[in-house]
Amino acid sequence: MSAEKKDDIAAGGYFSIPAGLGFPVTTKIFTPEKFTEEQKMAAETAKKFIEKDVLPKLAAIDEQTGGDYGITVGLLKKVADMGFLGTDVAEEYGGSGLDFTTAMCVSEVFGAGGSWAVSWAAHSGIGTHPILFFGNEAQKKKYLPKLVSGEWTGAFGATEPEAGTDLYGAKTKATLSPDGKSYILNGSKTFISNSGFANLFVILAKIDGDPKKSACFIVEKGTPGFTVGKEESKMGICGSSTCPLNLVDVQVPAENLLGEIGKGIHIIFNTLNLGRLKLGAMTTGSGKSVINDAVKYAVERKQFGLPISQFGMIKEKLANMVVGAWMTESAVYRTAGLVEEKFNATDFKDFTQTLDALREYEIECAILKVAGSEMFWYIADENVQVHGGYGYIKDYLAERYLRDARINRIFEGTNEINRLTAILNMLERAGKGKLPLAKAGAALAAQLEESAGEELPDEPLALQAELVNGMKKMFFVAGGRVLEKFPVREKIVAQQEILRRLSDMLILIYLSESGLLRVKEHGGEIQEAIVKLYVQNAALECEKLAKEVLAFLEEGDMLKSYLGRLKRLGRPLANNLLDSVSLERKIADKLIESKKYFL
Ligand SMILES: Cc1cc2nc3c(=O)[nH]c(=O)nc-3n(C[C@H](O)[C@H](O)[C@H](O)COP(=O)(O)OP(=O)(O)OC[C@H]3O[C@@H](n4cnc5c(N)ncnc54)[C@H](O)[C@@H]3O)c2cc1C
Repeated sequence: MSAEKKDDIAAGGYFSIPAGLGFPVTTKIFTPEKFTEEQKMAAETAKKFIEKDVLPKLAAIDEQTGGDYGITVGLLKKVADMGFLGTDVAEEYGGSGLDFTTAMCVSEVFGAGGSWAVSWAAHSGIGTHPILFFGNEAQKKKYLPKLVSGEWTGAFGATEPEAGTDLYGAKTKATLSPDGKSYILNGSKTFISNSGFANLFVILAKIDGDPKKSACFIVEKGTPGFTVGKEESKMGICGSSTCPLNLVDVQVPAENLLGEIGKGIHIIFNTLNLGRLKLGAMTTGSGKSVINDAVKYAVERKQFGLPISQFGMIKEKLANMVVGAWMTESAVYRTAGLVEEKFNATDFKDFTQTLDALREYEIECAILKVAGSEMFWYIADENVQVHGGYGYIKDYLAERYLRDARINRIFEGTNEINRLTAILNMLERAGKGKLPLAKAGAALAAQLEESAGEELPDEPLALQAELVNGMKKMFFVAGGRVLEKFPVREKIVAQQEILRRLSDMLILIYLSESGLLRVKEHGGEIQEAIVKLYVQNAALECEKLAKEVLAFLEEGDMLKSYLGRLKRLGRPLANNLLDSVSLERKIADKLIESKKYFL
């Protein structure tokens, strides 16, 4: 391992799991409290736009389905003038040239914009990023100014009818013309966002159908043989455009090949990493917006002579909504900070460095895609419940929020695939010696006998710090044992139910640690209550997950011995269980008093 990589790990780069084995090297993370004035201003401007121009038009935007998408395109042009189609695109290509974190702040705010937000994200993210990161100078100069100014809209065509999750199975074929001047593309794509009105499409294909020669092409609308099919009728995000594409002998100039032959699939996957992280930010923003809807209704609606916000079971829902949004936000911006650092150290003119930079935090990006989309779904679902029968009626926002929330668990890679991405990458890094997982698991056995359950240090949040370390140790015990039992990748991937459990542990650990580090640095009474509640529940859940993994792997005395280790790791909690109900009440009361998301 290079010295540079070692330092990266020590700095908490690789998710800080190894660093946390009793030696939490990562103590400082990027948090929203550290936003610069520029970042705050961008978020504020974006917020004014969403509140004034998008939220009042959500119904009208949804009714455009199949039409010319005039409202959506008009609003895209409007945000282009504000610099929000190219927030992190360099000024030389017409962008605003701001940092990645600013782009994340804008994503969070725009997340509340329902169908319009999906069109915006498909355009400025997956529709623009492949060219931004992998285009050559001529391609960037030709296309980025058009995309960033809103003159053109972008789309991203990877999925095919027979190849959704399994993009390696994509069949769209590209053949070099006899004169070498163009590629001839044949195939079909499905479910392509923005396709009803997009001018430019990044299309994944394989040269001569050879799986080793995947390649991406920039295809302009109107190219003969390229047709956009009928608009899909969807459950939610109804005002976004989703159509199939058909390519019959589409002649694409050879200079529209993006990046290198053989790297097309990597361009797609690594572009998706950023998309997943931004989806984490967008769902955080959506979640906060739905919380506002929930608390407003709960305060106004009376039953039994009281606002329903006064009932304990409603308070419990409101509190857990806030916990979900704040904890996800903590992990989102922690990761944004890590990506920002990596980007600052990357020469984006170098293809390999670019791929590496986008890949570096793919575990965290996958975690946040899952955590964000499931948090938003939970909040949207509970908001319907808070609204009772009215939540089921289309006149109320709650109904739309729920339908719109559902897609986030499916696109940008389904949550099943993102769970696998997170854990398999983690295990692979461990297998290659980048993370000393198995070694750490073995070393832990000795430590366990002595340390767990000792007196907690007399310092704030000592229990929560102990619980986060305990969860990591549980992950080492269970994950390390999985690696020992299934040392070959093919054997591990066949154990999906086990991988799902390990992946859920990773998600709980990453969010717990992010929230804990944030509150340790910035304090806050409600924030402390949030972290205490989340970490306690996460620790209980982690122990259950680790037990399930070990019960699958072991039996008899061996199983007893492993369960004994987990029990010892769970001892700090068993001896210091906090009162969750009072914590929930405290958080809910503050939300009710504020009548809106207040953190
Ligand atoms: C509204 C909308 C917008 C979209 N926008 C775009 C876009 O702009 N560009 C684009 O290219 N695509 C887009 N997609 C496609 C989207 O990314 C795919 O639908 C998604 O990746 C899943 O593929 P699939 O639908 O073929 O499902 P499948 O791959 O058939 O999956 C079906 C189920 O099986 C599970 N599954 C599949 N493989 C595995 C496995 N190995 N292990 C465990 N479980 C597995 C999945 O998680 C899922 O639950 C969009 C889809 C929708 C609905």
